[in-house]
Order: sequence, then structure tokens, then C-alpha cells
Amino acid sequence: MFEKVLIANRGEIALRIHRACQEMGIKTVAVHSTADSEAMHVRLADESVCIGPPPAAKSYLHIPSIIAAAEITGAQAIHPGYGFLSENAKFAEIVTQHGMTFIGPTAEHIRLMGDKIAAKQAAIDTGMPVVPGSAGGLTDEANAKKVAKEIGYPIIIKASAGGGGRGMKVAQTEDDLAEAYNTARSEAKAAFGNDEVYMEKYLTRPRHIEIQIVADGHGNVIHLGERDCSLQRRHQKVLEEAPSPALNAEDRARIGQITADAIKKLGYLGVGTVEYLFEDGEFYFIEMNTRLQVEHPVTEMITCLDLVREQIRIADGAKLSVNQENVIFNGHAIECRVNAENPTTFRPSPGKITGYHPPGGLGVRLDSAIYAGYAIPPNYDSLIGKLIVHGRDRAECLMRLRRALNEMVITGVETTLPLFRDLMNEPDVINGDYSIHWLEKNLKAKAEEAGG
Ligand code: ADP
Repeated sequence: MFEKVLIANRGEIALRIHRACQEMGIKTVAVHSTADSEAMHVRLADESVCIGPPPAAKSYLHIPSIIAAAEITGAQAIHPGYGFLSENAKFAEIVTQHGMTFIGPTAEHIRLMGDKIAAKQAAIDTGMPVVPGSAGGLTDEANAKKVAKEIGYPIIIKASAGGGGRGMKVAQTEDDLAEAYNTARSEAKAAFGNDEVYMEKYLTRPRHIEIQIVADGHGNVIHLGERDCSLQRRHQKVLEEAPSPALNAEDRARIGQITADAIKKLGYLGVGTVEYLFEDGEFYFIEMNTRLQVEHPVTEMITCLDLVREQIRIADGAKLSVNQENVIFNGHAIECRVNAENPTTFRPSPGKITGYHPPGGLGVRLDSAIYAGYAIPPNYDSLIGKLIVHGRDRAECLMRLRRALNEMVITGVETTLPLFRDLMNEPDVINGDYSIHWLEKNLKAKAEEAGG
């Protein structure tokens, strides 16, 4: 087993990885920018190395500095967390070329799934159901029109290199098509340096259901059920839960098996998530993420498995610690993403946290790197914590979550906690009755009510 692991990330996920390493008796190396010298991941790690100034491009995304930090400290493996370099195939290759282990899948699989058109083709080839759409990239406006006519409106144009909900545009009718096509292309060019786009049928009331898979290098692949991430804003997840209130045991076993079989055919290694849209009893593949997800704790809570420990064990060449028959789903878990943002405008609210009281008690888990007196730098993502609650069933989980939300205090910056407190009173949320469009519609209606 590795003796020392470098964590190429910051915030709550750096702590999450550090905790798994600690339990396994592995020493950790934190890296940080000058904006993060007071950060909790730096304080807790066994060693730390400053890798550059605040802009991520010059620190957390700067590969030479990270490799140098690993070499200087003698780390044998690098865990990339999520975001930053986690889905950068080149980085995975460079780590390996320097004689270290990349804790994640092979560069080849990262590259395949990073190209969403190639990923969709791989999904088709391995037997996963996909959303009807263009066979590959769209060649021009006329081609876009022709494909849209074939699949029927509404349609969505998506960036081949997409991620984080960017570069996606919906056209309700042919009148909107040219604009959707051209804006999606220019957004994709600006965000990813690649203007290739493709088209899919736009589903009007799907749920976002994703399957967690874990694969070792010995031919064993298991699925850990689904997460329902339908409460979204701007195609970004806000609240996630497992199991999904919309699936029955049969649906779960069916899509879990299809996904695990497909991943086995791909020869994939490590943890990964296959994302589907689910409408009228049918699943449609949208993409695969080749890393640990932000929302992985809800799966951990209902399976009692430590996904980061599995990642590290697999990277070290071990077999999975469980087989499919031994995976037991127990109860219900919900995660709220607590962001330092205004809860109605969602404008980021960096600054000093003057007071902090984390909730506790039975079934409550808080993954966060904040503390009273900590100053949230303006340079990074606004996620400052994840409140995860477990209960024997969904009703108990909601009851506990409501209690934990009321107990939690963060002062000095604005947070999205009031949004979650409001959501706990929404009949549709209580009943688990929502599609991916529910939250935006609800927020819009609220804003109009307040404005008028
Ligand atoms: P990204 O990689 O940017 O996250 P995804 O392909 O995972 O992009 O899509 C993100 C979200 O966008 C989905 O969870 C869903 O809300 C919405 N979306 C994507 N494809 C479709 C579609 N065909 N119909 C309706 N909504 C979609």
C-alpha cells in the first residue's frame, strides 16, 4: 500500500480524501495556493506545499508545480478529487510517466468519456440506452435543422467537450434553432476551446438518475445503485438523494446491471458515474464522469462503503472489497450543497466566516473545510460544505434534514441554507415529485411573486 499520497485539490474534498488516507495509515501531502495558506486541508495534512498564486490556472491546475510537489515530498500516488485536474487525461499520463500512481481511471478512459460524442457512441456500443440525437457532431446550421426535424422539437444543443452545464442551448421550435446552434458553439469555444456541438431530443420532464459503479483491475465491476439529482439550477445539482423516490427495485436492478455490464465491456478501472435521464420508465444515457462525484456521500451513507478507500485500494492493485451480492442498501440519504451564495440571486458571497455551528446528532454528516474565522477566497467554487443526512426511510431522512438545517449556523457570508429550509416545506419535495426543471420553475415563480 502507498505510504504517502498527494491530494491535488482543496476544500471539503481535500479533507474527505485526507480522512480516508488517515484511516488507512497513509500520510498525506496537501498542495495549496497562496490564497489557501490558512485552509483546513493544509492544517490537517501531514505535509503541505505551496504551489502558486491564487488563480487556479497558476496553482491547482498547474501540472508542473503539482508534480514537483509530489517529487519533493516523495508521494507515491496523487488523488485529484473532483473538478480541477480530475478529468484531465494529460495529467493522468504525466503522473504515470513520473513513476507515480494516478488514483483514478486510465488516461484512455478519461479521454474517451471527456469527448461526449465519443462517449455516447461507446454507450451505444456497450448496450446502454441513449437519448435520440445526432449521430455525431453537427456540421453546420443546415445539418442542425435537418437533424432537428428528424428527431422532433424541442431539442438541445450540447458541447462535445462540455461540462458543468455550460455550452447547452434549447430550441423549442425551428425559429430558435439558428440562435441556439450559434450561441452553443460560441459558448463551447469560449469555455472549452472547442466549438464542436451535437444535438439531442430535449426531454421535458425527466429525472436525473445516475448510477455509481466501481471496477477493479481484476474484472470485477459492481454498481452501488442510483442517486437522484433532479433538483438542479442551471443544469447544476443542488440537492441529491439515494435511493431515488421514482425508482422501484426492479428498475434499479435493471439499470444497475446494464451499466455494470457496459462498464465491464469497456475495461474501466476505478469509480465512475453513468448519468441518465429517466422519463416514463425509460433511461437515457447522457454522460459518464470518470471521477469521484461531489454527491458520492449519499451512496456511502446507504451502502456503508467508503468510496475513497475503494479508489485507493483499486489504484494499489487490490480487488474490490465487496461483490454485488454483498452490497446492501440501507435506508435513505439526502445531501444539500451549501454554497457561499445569496440564496435568491445565487451571487457568490466570499468573505470571512464570523460564526459557525455545524449540526450534529444521529444520522448527520457534514463534509466541509470551513471554520469560524476562515476567510472564503473569491477565487474558487462557492461550495463550502455538504450536509448529508441519513434515515431509515425517506420520511425519517427529511425529518432529520429539516432539524439539521435549522440547527446549522454560518454567519458573516450569505449561504444557500435558507433555500434548503424553504425546500423542506415544498409539498413536491416532500413527496419526491419533481423533474430536472422543477427547481428553476419554482424559483422563477417565487421571484415573480416577490417582484409583483
Ligand atoms: P454537463 O457535462 O455539462 O453536466 P450533462 O450532459 O451531464 O452536461 O447534462 C447536465 C444537465 O443538463 C442534465 O442533468 C439535465 O438537467 C440537462 N440535460 C442534458 N441533456 C438533456 C436532454 N437531452 N434533455 C433535457 N435535459 C438535458
